[in-house]
Amino acid sequence: VFEYVTRAPDIPVYAVMVAYKEDPSPFKLNLGIGVYRTEEGKPLLLNVVRKAEKLLVNELSANKEYLPITGLAEFNKLSAKLIFGADSSAIKENRVTTVHCLSGSGSLRIGAEFLAKHYHQRTVYMSQPTYANHPNFFVAAGITVKTYRYYDPTTCGLDFQGMLEDLGAASSGAIVLLQTCGHNPTGVDPNLEQWEQIRKLMRLKGLLPFFDCAYQGFVSASLDADAQPVRMFVADGGECLTALSYSKIMGLYAERVGALSIVCKTADVASRVESQLKLIIRPMYSNPPIHGASIVTAILKDSEMYGEWITELKAMTDRITSMRQQLYNALHDRAIPGDWSHITKQVGMFSLTGLNAEQVAFLTKEYHIYMSSDGRINLAGLSTKTIPYLADAIHAAVNR
Ligand code: PMP
Repeated sequence: VFEYVTRAPDIPVYAVMVAYKEDPSPFKLNLGIGVYRTEEGKPLLLNVVRKAEKLLVNELSANKEYLPITGLAEFNKLSAKLIFGADSSAIKENRVTTVHCLSGSGSLRIGAEFLAKHYHQRTVYMSQPTYANHPNFFVAAGITVKTYRYYDPTTCGLDFQGMLEDLGAASSGAIVLLQTCGHNPTGVDPNLEQWEQIRKLMRLKGLLPFFDCAYQGFVSASLDADAQPVRMFVADGGECLTALSYSKIMGLYAERVGALSIVCKTADVASRVESQLKLIIRPMYSNPPIHGASIVTAILKDSEMYGEWITELKAMTDRITSMRQQLYNALHDRAIPGDWSHITKQVGMFSLTGLNAEQVAFLTKEYHIYMSSDGRINLAGLSTKTIPYLADAIHAAVNR
């Protein structure tokens, strides 16, 4: 009965990963998938995560019973506090409903499903370009995906005017997907003044903000500063959705820990929204897994471990910033044609380098350097040792 199933195309980022794995070259370099690597090119398990897991061993092995549909209650509370702030009036007024989901992806997917079922507008606008999986979450829910201008390839920076024009022309009430900070794939974020203009325009037009928060703390190492765009929207009393991921910020990728929050106008609405979220989650996976969320909860609720986490988060952020500077210096030293200052101006884990698909193919073929064909690199995949090699390769690619 399945003979007629056609082969689906490969998913690009995984195809890059497979090609990298199969490459026998000792010089190979993977700048494709967005995971943090140490200076030695190794995955990083945070010490504070290890410590939390040790503390939890007894408690966890004693109880593997189901969580509620909405997940670990304490985790939800702490996650809301993380993103909206300890003194958030929306939280105090019980206007926020937060559900524990399968990381950022699961939060986006459940959020999209909720909107498809309960929101009157079934169009979402997302930045051009955006994280490759973003359209899928919404298309799968039956929501139409449109784009707004965001990245200006001539400056490798923000096309703010284009963004405002496109949001201004969006149909009233449409959903707008925004990345809170450390924009994937561009590394380009609006500044706070620009965010304020975006907020005003969106509220004026009744556009519904859906924030993807996958890199809170990865830009400035201050969780409060990085969450500012969200908090500006929440402070005006209007609605918004947030999808928070712990994959990158705690290095918990495979634990799949995240939270969807929906900020409502009243506590009564929030509680009705939560009741509907349960109906969406129940037939999908019934309830989320406990392990990862217990680790996060242990860290967030203990001031000492929280402090240790911030220190480790800052070390990751500092290393990424240092990679940006070193890469810029190496490109500059080689007098490679073009202005490479965007490498240090961009923020977060990624940089859209400006390399085109042909140059990327050359880097892969001749230098065994892997990245997505749009020229996005993961700066955390670099080290002081590998930067000269990448700079030489870019030199060769650009001067061809
Ligand atoms: N949003 C963005 C912008 C991302 O970059 C990613 C991961 N690359 C995700 C969401 C989803 O990640 P996860 O499901 O692991 O939280």
